[in-house]
Amino acid sequence: MIRFSALSDRITVGTTQTTDLDITTQDCIIGSGCGGATLALRLAEAGRDVVILEQGGLHTAESGDLDQREDDMLAKIDGGRGLHASEDLTINFTYGRTVGGASVHYWADSYRTPADRLDMWAEEFRIEHHSLAELEPHFARIERDLHIEPAPDHLLNPLNRRLEQATETLGWHGHRVPQARSGCIGSGYCMQGCAYDAKQSQLVTSVPRALELGAHLICDARATTLVRNGKRITAVEGNLLDRGSGRTRARFRIGAERVFVAAGGFQTAPLLLRNGFGEELPALGARLYCNPCVMAHGFFAEPVDQFRGIPAGWGIDQFRLHRYDDNGAYIEGGYLLMPNQLQAGTLAAVLPGIGGDHQTLMARFRHFGGAIAWIDDLDPGRIEWDRNGRIRWHFSIGPRDRLVCRDAMRKGAQWLLAAGAEEVHLGDRARTVVRTPAELDVIDRFDFGPTDVVLAGPHPAGAAPMGRDPRTAVVDSEHRVFGTDNLYIADPSVFPTAVSVDPSVTIMAFSHRLADLLSS
Ligand SMILES: Cc1cc2nc3c(=O)[nH]c(=O)nc-3n(C[C@H](O)[C@H](O)[C@H](O)COP(=O)(O)OP(=O)(O)OC[C@H]3O[C@@H](n4cnc5c(N)ncnc54)[C@H](O)[C@@H]3O)c2cc1C
Repeated sequence: MIRFSALSDRITVGTTQTTDLDITTQDCIIGSGCGGATLALRLAEAGRDVVILEQGGLHTAESGDLDQREDDMLAKIDGGRGLHASEDLTINFTYGRTVGGASVHYWADSYRTPADRLDMWAEEFRIEHHSLAELEPHFARIERDLHIEPAPDHLLNPLNRRLEQATETLGWHGHRVPQARSGCIGSGYCMQGCAYDAKQSQLVTSVPRALELGAHLICDARATTLVRNGKRITAVEGNLLDRGSGRTRARFRIGAERVFVAAGGFQTAPLLLRNGFGEELPALGARLYCNPCVMAHGFFAEPVDQFRGIPAGWGIDQFRLHRYDDNGAYIEGGYLLMPNQLQAGTLAAVLPGIGGDHQTLMARFRHFGGAIAWIDDLDPGRIEWDRNGRIRWHFSIGPRDRLVCRDAMRKGAQWLLAAGAEEVHLGDRARTVVRTPAELDVIDRFDFGPTDVVLAGPHPAGAAPMGRDPRTAVVDSEHRVFGTDNLYIADPSVFPTAVSVDPSVTIMAFSHRLADLLSS
């Protein structure tokens, strides 16, 4: 078990602070997720003085904080307590607000960036220094550091095993999903924060390693102001927060030689927008990708216990790329397909219905097992910092993504039926249930509009894209914000598009690459 208590002299807990903080460092990093923590580790290894600012609290297995209760844990580790959504309520946004960021939440699926995506970013968006060859050593290190291995047999729950077999029945091909785990007991509570320190989130890997090397973590510390003098950021200012109420207890000021914003794909652009960077950089917040997740819920005669084991031990990548015919008409694909894992509270929230009917469904909880697809979205939303100082995420399913959502839901339902599901609940407002593949045509009528079905967006990207031209990009290929000398972005905001696979390894690899570029 990671002993944060042994590192307490490197940690300032904002929620207990009553006086203002004023300190100076070489490197100040805003955000402690995959992007920020990985960078902190690399900079600390290089001997730099590092301060990590994290607006969330420090919740650890050692302290008994990770109690596996969905309601409790969402409040502790999720940015919007699980309730944030796009402005028009099309999609629910889940993201981290805790030391370790969204990796404390995540499923630990750990894919290298596909070569075709890196090539596309280089060719279409003119990104330099991030080729497969340049990232490969970092992928190898991340895989070593996070113990990434294909999911082993003993961690697959009955739902995963059925879907693995159904893949063969359908003539599809899939794979054991690479997992970042060490000593996993398959409790099924990955999304609530691993109480066993087995999931290799940043909370148990890069953060403590960086602290051991001398980095200083300030949690419950929300950065609000990037103090600017010409092209240089001279300090980061913000509030130390009371963890329960979110009220300000004290202020902080961190003077720094270099500032790195790693506040995550939903929050980095708003921080820059509120600091006026949107006036110079029109691409800031102009695009938001999030890999919208489409779900279908199978009901099986036998218990499938999807809430045990690991979420996605088996996955289908055959449909990762969009396929079009010779005339450019969409055929299929544009998503990864996986078994779903939902604990009781979340399943209850996503299965439509109320009262006795809903109770009847939930009484059969052990028999429900779902499929989920992350759509490689083509129709981005946008992020706004409004006049009242509030973040607004605008995101709707556009015409191209609608076709992909339909195909993904159809394939997910087909997969569940092939795995032996007696019924598949599509989770739409009309509470549609299908029992045979022939009934799946009903999905062609789904619009995926606001509140039509439950969609989740866990993989934000693209709101501060990398490129060559400040008219169309926000950072250059060395992650530096155009028009500044010492302000950098280290999270998926810099990706020009979504990644087409789960993004954590790409985020970490980009931070490693940034550390290389800084040292050269
Ligand atoms: C439920 C769920 C499951 C997922 N499963 C997978 C998976 O299996 N595999 C995978 O690859 N990816 C997965 N992801 C996505 C992955 O976890 C994230 O893409 C990744 O962790 C994001 O890292 P990040 O560093 O960009 O941002 P984050 O992890 O969001 O970190 C940013 C941090 O910055 C802090 N912050 C924000 N603003 C401020 C501020 N103003 N001042 C101070 N701090 C601030 C936030 O509190 C946050 O902790 C999942 C995500 C979710 C939500």
